[in-house]
Amino acid sequence: MIGQRQQISENIANVRERMAAAARRGGRGVDEITLIAVTKTHSAAIVEMAIAAGVADCGENRVQEAEDKLEALGAAAVRWHLIGHLQRNKAKRAVTLFDMIHSVDSVRLAEALDRYMAEAEDAAGAPFDQPADNHPLADQFPTASSRRARRLPVLLQVNVSGEESKEGFALPGGLSNGALLPDFLAAVERIVALPHMQVQGLMTVAPYAPGPEAARPTFQALSRLRNDLAQRFPQASWQHLSMGMTGDFEVAIEEGATLVRVGRAIFGERG
Ligand SMILES: *Cc1c(COP(=O)(O)O)cnc(C)c1O
Repeated sequence: MIGQRQQISENIANVRERMAAAARRGGRGVDEITLIAVTKTHSAAIVEMAIAAGVADCGENRVQEAEDKLEALGAAAVRWHLIGHLQRNKAKRAVTLFDMIHSVDSVRLAEALDRYMAEAEDAAGAPFDQPADNHPLADQFPTASSRRARRLPVLLQVNVSGEESKEGFALPGGLSNGALLPDFLAAVERIVALPHMQVQGLMTVAPYAPGPEAARPTFQALSRLRNDLAQRFPQASWQHLSMGMTGDFEVAIEEGATLVRVGRAIFGERG
């Protein structure tokens, strides 16, 4: 019987091999794709084992659970991703804890995050620490460009599959949804204009299905939507597609995922 530490390390190596093979099939470089180890329900000690095995990104669903682990782990060299639904009353804590929020699903939530980013910046006096633009008084007065220096990386979660239980902006069918697309585009326009938000792409969760191929149309729809948004809103970067979990990450990579969120294939079934 092998120990848990070794098991996690072997599982991570196996997931990385499968990621590399999927990237080759998709004609992509494996270095375009980041593995996020989804550590929800697992203890800080388990997370530490994953970090020791080379994981640099961890994903959590809940603000409180992430906060407890961050406290226990100290300033471990890992980026934290919020991948679960975020309630607005937790937005203030979320901006201080997470390096990226994948689950922005309303204008109101984005506005709350933007406001808390501004407050955190004021408290930290960040504008004065940033190299500003060329204005001679730039080091004395925060200019618009230096004030915008601290932006929270976020993804917009979109439900392109139409499955009822799924969170995210409702856009079943993606771009082809003529009825809901205008509202979605209006929301995106408002979010990309927020000074402390840095929209970097889209996230989705495929419907539960027994085989990975069932998820492919969902991932294709998200990718097409991203490409369209990149044309319409060039002020945001749109480089990320957060899609693919234990059951379907290889198909997601074939379809362009840049962030895969993998829990069970690394840590085993959740209790
Ligand atoms: C739990 C979870 C994952 C990881 O799922 P696994 O099947 O354990 O790989 C990925 N994304 C989200 C949003 C999750 O909630």
